[in-house]
Amino acid sequence: MKVIPRDQHCISRRNISDGALKVMARLRDAGHDAYLVGGAVRDLLLGGHPKDFDVATDATPEQVHGIFRNSRIIGRRFRIVHVRFGREIIEVTTFRGHHDTEPAKAGRAPSSHSRHSDQGLLLRDNVFGTLEEDAVRRDLTVNALYYDSATFAVYDHVHGMRDLEHRSVCIIGDPEQRFREDPVRMLRVARFAAKLDFSIDADTAAAIPRCAPLLAEIPSARLFDEFLKLFFSGSAERTFDELLEHDLLRYLFPDSDYEIRQDEVAMALVRAAMRSTDQRIAQGKSITPAFLLAALLWPVADRLADQLRDRGDPPLVAMNSASQQVISQAVRTVSIPKRFSMPMREIWEFQHRLERRQERKAAELVQNRRFRAAYDFLLLREQAGEDTGDVGGWWTEFQTLPENQQLQVASAD
Ligand code: ATP
Ligand code: MG
Repeated sequence: MKVIPRDQHCISRRNISDGALKVMARLRDAGHDAYLVGGAVRDLLLGGHPKDFDVATDATPEQVHGIFRNSRIIGRRFRIVHVRFGREIIEVTTFRGHHDTEPAKAGRAPSSHSRHSDQGLLLRDNVFGTLEEDAVRRDLTVNALYYDSATFAVYDHVHGMRDLEHRSVCIIGDPEQRFREDPVRMLRVARFAAKLDFSIDADTAAAIPRCAPLLAEIPSARLFDEFLKLFFSGSAERTFDELLEHDLLRYLFPDSDYEIRQDEVAMALVRAAMRSTDQRIAQGKSITPAFLLAALLWPVADRLADQLRDRGDPPLVAMNSASQQVISQAVRTVSIPKRFSMPMREIWEFQHRLERRQERKAAELVQNRRFRAAYDFLLLREQAGEDTGDVGGWWTEFQTLPENQQLQVASAD
């Protein structure tokens, strides 16, 4: 193990939130160890501002809960304690220990603290251990650095410091075994490579093609959570590239993956939506997953709607049934909540109305609460090279008219 004393690293207490400092001080006062860990240490060492602070301790979840009145024990698969200070939540985890990596065998009582499936998937992980054991069960070396709140030193068991310097995303231990335990780690590898602008260690990358099919076993709700982290942390476009490069997108959006790989315009549309999401986040503007999801699945929905029209369905009917089918297929992999899939469908169904450019209804459409998103989406399609009859410019101009003139246009025909 390597200890980096306080004068040899750049972490300063000034950059750690008051809540995290309080939690660590109170744990120490109660006779426990307390370390800052994970993304916060990584981001502080890289000179950034962590978005949240996680604390690791040798106190059990019950002990932590006993110390903080403002706390809750959460999770089952992985029990942790949330300590709340106003709007800030400090996540406190108890050191995890080793557990059998063998699936439970007949004739042996399965542990109630830790469980693996027959494929090696880690189903539960509540065996407690030491700091060192805790370090090696984390995902990436750069995520397994501990900042000691008592001595201000950084503890490194897994060459995390070296990998930070080399800007390398590297799985701790045997990549294949670690991906089997939890296939979502492959998505995390892509996410951190993109977010930190690091490259992926060769052995880590080499195990991905072998293990990627295991992602099919991950519940759709967990994949939706991961989808949000992948694309709404400010580096959607780079994450998208990593996912394509390592052929992981298909485990999130199989039909879109197929569509964008064979159609340049579809690829350009999805990429433009990723870029605009990143720009909006950088500018502090509001974002909704519905918009990005609408772009990701549009190529699939649009093709299906085309087929239904060729079969004789009227355009709106075709779009309607296409969107229903595409969404019900997509949620089998990534469970998109209704509050996002409804606006997605509205954005899609609006496209046809915008393309028709009916003067009579224009003023009314502009007032619709979905107009803005649908109009932005139309521009994105045009920017990607889709042929919409070039109506985007017309709508842009129409919106610059004062309201009374918009109404004149509306009554002109
Ligand atoms: P972010 O800046 O995105 O919050 P983070 O590193 O804090 O990055 P979290 O998802 O908040 O990431 O997880 C906190 C820590 O828990 C990680 O740094 C890592 O050490 C550990 N961890 C999270 N998910 C896994 C996993 N699937 N397998 C192993 N360790 C994990
Ligand atoms: Mg975090």
